[in-house]
Amino acid sequence: MRAEGAAPGKFPAPPPRAYPRARAWIELDRAALRHNVERLRSLLPEGCALMPAVKANAYGHGAVLAARELNRLGVRAFCAASAEEGAELRRHGVRGEILVLGYTHPGNFPLLRRYRLTQAAVDADHARLLNAYGKKLRVHLKIDTGMHRLGIPAERTEEIARVFRLKNLRVRGIFTHLCADETRSGADEAFTLAQAAAFQEVLCSLRKQGLSYGKAHLLSSYGLLNYPELGGAYARVGIALYGVLSGPAGLETCPVELRPVLSLKARVALVRDLPKGQSAGYGFGYTAEGGRRIAVLSIGYADGLPRSLSRGRGRVLIRGEEAPIIGSVCMDQTLVDVTDIPGVRSGDTAVLIGRSGRREITAYDLAEAGGTITNEVLSRLGPRLNRTAAGFA
Ligand SMILES: *Cc1c(COP(=O)(O)O)cnc(C)c1O
Repeated sequence: MRAEGAAPGKFPAPPPRAYPRARAWIELDRAALRHNVERLRSLLPEGCALMPAVKANAYGHGAVLAARELNRLGVRAFCAASAEEGAELRRHGVRGEILVLGYTHPGNFPLLRRYRLTQAAVDADHARLLNAYGKKLRVHLKIDTGMHRLGIPAERTEEIARVFRLKNLRVRGIFTHLCADETRSGADEAFTLAQAAAFQEVLCSLRKQGLSYGKAHLLSSYGLLNYPELGGAYARVGIALYGVLSGPAGLETCPVELRPVLSLKARVALVRDLPKGQSAGYGFGYTAEGGRRIAVLSIGYADGLPRSLSRGRGRVLIRGEEAPIIGSVCMDQTLVDVTDIPGVRSGDTAVLIGRSGRREITAYDLAEAGGTITNEVLSRLGPRLNRTAAGFA
């Protein structure tokens, strides 16, 4: 994702000047990102480096913006979901190791070499396909220790060892993914420790066979926050880096203070009076019980605003006050009730995530109202939104 007005290697100018006419936009707080990197680094176990997850356009923040800024903060490794995502980062000058976490089709293997990407071998068949490409490829081997999504099952030690004998693969790492690390309570902790133990057994067996696996890693955000003692060469931190957790649960036990990096804002297109008994939006989604004043916002579900916020479930901030969403969120527009907010006019800014005056709507608020988690809300923020960094030239 290319940010408008961004000089190569520079965070773009602040929003009032950069986007005087934007219909809907994202402001990124560079100081918050720096703060989160510092705090998360302070948790890293011995010998472990950050490997930020910048997949899904850096959880909606803008992958190129985020990765370049992280490069400047000394980050030298990233993970992406696909070869295309990795290629996009390289085309915009992102340096360091880029690990493609997900499946890559053989038709896209050329991207791996052209953009110097490291591919996850997601199972033994995928490893053989990568080898059959006939040219040297860098891989990290994915091990399944209980999530049962990607990876060679940890107990299949021979199958794992065979991957090391595939002559075109340069095995530079090995990793697994924890799936119950959100808490340290009973069942979660037992399962997480069992996953870690299974992973260690694989590593031990490989060492005994004299096979060198390079970087071994298993922690992601919750892993680093809750189980830093499990170690590893990388912490694949996504959501926490952006300053939030998946949900508000766990905030009390979070060992560091994280600051949200992203604010989501939209322009008020117009304000109109809705007489008593009149409906607004599709399908009579809202009917005014008395005279109301409504504002039309230039943002909709195509921008990633969940449609499940319709009919009063979501709200926005305008001029420091709350305005409930009325009717159904549309593809490109959203209606809000501003009867109780004096002076709202066309061109005003509505805050969907972030602060306005003394009030704040967090990604948690939006996720909860929309019936989902922050990861989904953020990662679905769309390409139509302008992205910029607040407070930095
Ligand atoms: C997305 C992902 C991560 C990052 O997860 P967060 O919970 O956002 O930190 C790490 N590892 C894998 C394999 C992933 O798919």
